[in-house]
Amino acid sequence: GAAGTASASPARSAAGGDVHSCGAPLPVLGRDVTVPLVTGGEVAYAALDYAASAPALQRVWDDVAAYAPYYGSVHRGAGYLSQLSTDLFESSRATVHEFLDCREDDQVVFTRSTTDSLNLLAGVLPDGCEVFVFETEHHAALLPWTNARVTCLDAPRTPGQAVLTLESALAGRDLGVPALVCVTGASNVTGELWPVRELAAVSHAHGARIVLDAAQLAPHHPVSVRDSGVDWVAFSGHKLYAPFGSGVLAGRADWLREAEPYLAGGGASRKVSRRAGGGVDVEWHTTAARHEAGSPNVIGVYAIASACRALTEAGFDTLVEREQQLVEKVLAGLAGVPGVRVLSLFGDGSSSTPAGGTPARVGVVSFVVEGWSSSHFAAALSAEYGIGVRDGLFCAHPLVRTLLGGDPRQPGECGAAPGGDSAEGAGRPLNAIRVSF
Ligand code: PLP
Repeated sequence: GAAGTASASPARSAAGGDVHSCGAPLPVLGRDVTVPLVTGGEVAYAALDYAASAPALQRVWDDVAAYAPYYGSVHRGAGYLSQLSTDLFESSRATVHEFLDCREDDQVVFTRSTTDSLNLLAGVLPDGCEVFVFETEHHAALLPWTNARVTCLDAPRTPGQAVLTLESALAGRDLGVPALVCVTGASNVTGELWPVRELAAVSHAHGARIVLDAAQLAPHHPVSVRDSGVDWVAFSGHKLYAPFGSGVLAGRADWLREAEPYLAGGGASRKVSRRAGGGVDVEWHTTAARHEAGSPNVIGVYAIASACRALTEAGFDTLVEREQQLVEKVLAGLAGVPGVRVLSLFGDGSSSTPAGGTPARVGVVSFVVEGWSSSHFAAALSAEYGIGVRDGLFCAHPLVRTLLGGDPRQPGECGAAPGGDSAEGAGRPLNAIRVSF
């Protein structure tokens, strides 16, 4: 990832020594954390779980600390500090608008996370809306559409097949019925990039709209709403090197301003009055404020804007190049370990850059090791080497089951299976291990 996993010299070399010293174009917090090992001594901790939550950038932390003396409520006070806070809050909105290369009249709504953003969008779908979603999605993108008729699409095995699968699902649909396609930009399991622009074109050709789950994409690649043509994009601050608790939903204003507010309360309402004969009348804002009721997470929002600025200034060309070097290194290292199988939907998982030169994946690599429980393997990496990875089904149960050769229609378990997960399922592992940076 942009921040890498740099550290002071480790007390003990782990996995050949490389993992603790791969350099950091953008310094992150907690680089110098050392952890005790079961085998004795301590080692500089190597965080390789950025896909779950990336550490905040030092720069973000500094920006937030610089703001702290000017802390005041936003949109609510006549005082100097309130006005300053309001300016910071609204200029952060403008920064995110620019970072995502939004269309001029797109709205940027601040939320708590990607999950929150997609749930918000699910709440503003027009009546009768159909939703199309691949079974390979993260649960945050798979599950919120409880008020819609959902068509779940089979896992494609190439990017081209994804486009064809969507096209045939949308073909012949009644254009009078509103529809939404929800797709991820980069998988949180395989790291693989999805053909977003093509999926957007197909969606629009069939009268559907499309929302991009950019939780994993935005920290690694530039996202352009204009170029990709998506109608909305969602991402989380805590995966984009900002602290926990803030997220973004950006895109078309019409569905957002026509629907009931996500939360009802102060800030979302423009005029409130007693109704003659009982009850209360309310006129809601038609701006992003409509869905931001209550006192907002100003620090989280400011931190997101700071992270957007830091990534832009560092330059995605540089960051992507550095990240691809690290991906190649990880894949090459894993290729040398007997019994390791890297999980891939779109290829054999052996390369980060297929013919044509476009990166195939972000810094997310999942794998299984023959004869090993993934949970035990991940625990050993932590206890014996100080390397923090994740094991499990990564909140994408159908996808991981498919990748492990199972049936995506069978319910999956998250976490360790009793007796070791490689023992069950006719020798098939039930869980995987993920490194991400
Ligand atoms: N979408 C993808 C692809 C993710 O990887 C994640 C988190 O892992 C989410 C959505 C949900 O993000 P959050 O937990 O910040 O809401």
